[in-house]
Amino acid sequence: MELRFGESEETLRAEVRAFLKENIPEAAGGEFEDRGDESFEAALGFNEKLADRGWIAPAWPKEYGGLGASIFEQVVFNEEFGYHGAPDTGTRGFGVGMIGPTLIIHGSDEQKAKYLPQITSGEHIWCQGYSEPGSGSDLASLQTRAVRDGDDYIINGQKIWTSGGHRANQMFTLVRTDPDAPKHRGISFLLIDDIKNTPGLTV
Ligand SMILES: Cc1cc2nc3c(=O)[nH]c(=O)nc-3n(C[C@H](O)[C@H](O)[C@H](O)COP(=O)(O)OP(=O)(O)OC[C@H]3O[C@@H](n4cnc5c(N)ncnc54)[C@H](O)[C@@H]3O)c2cc1C
Repeated sequence: MELRFGESEETLRAEVRAFLKENIPEAAGGEFEDRGDESFEAALGFNEKLADRGWIAPAWPKEYGGLGASIFEQVVFNEEFGYHGAPDTGTRGFGVGMIGPTLIIHGSDEQKAKYLPQITSGEHIWCQGYSEPGSGSDLASLQTRAVRDGDDYIINGQKIWTSGGHRANQMFTLVRTDPDAPKHRGISFLLIDDIKNTPGLTV
């Protein structure tokens, strides 16, 4: 088995490296730095440029805005983005890294068509609503309740440690939908759209 990168991957690496050197905005700061509004806006602009090239999620299928890149090509992107400190908004971390793959494997066709292109376009910025004030490592103890109400769910509860929650416009969250089931069951995974404009939700 050949474990070294081939010529085409090294050509891609040179292209990615040149792009990053030219386009990483100074104002965006490093990937894990605490960012103010200006650097967040800069990271948004950077992600727009990635989206134009299909570089938000290169390994995703083309129909969802990826390039259908190989695992080796994806590794090239990851290495170069990491080395050069490419900024993110939550789009690549939570979107490409967590909710996207979950939908690709478990989502309905409707969910894939609705959500995946908005991740690869950089429009959707996801956050993760799992932890609660009394529920950390023991996530099965979570109390946030969701009750079905026609086509909607009414959600009551509180989430904490929600990284990037103040910037995000989408949230995937865990809620209790069956209080009679054993604690590690009766939990559902909900997607909340447009969290900045959802009635009753405060950040
Ligand atoms: C940088 C950062 C970002 C985060 N972002 C998010 C996010 O975006 N969304 C989100 O939902 N959460 C997020 N979290 C929360 C994180 O997932 C929780 O902190 C984690 O689940 C631990 O929960 P806790 O802090 O309440 O600690 P606790 O669960 O109260 O644990 C406290 C201590 O007890 C220990 N402990 C717990 N249970 C046991 C056990 N059974 N046996 C032995 N020792 C035990 C733990 O190891 C720890 O040392 C983030 C946390 C950090 C640090």
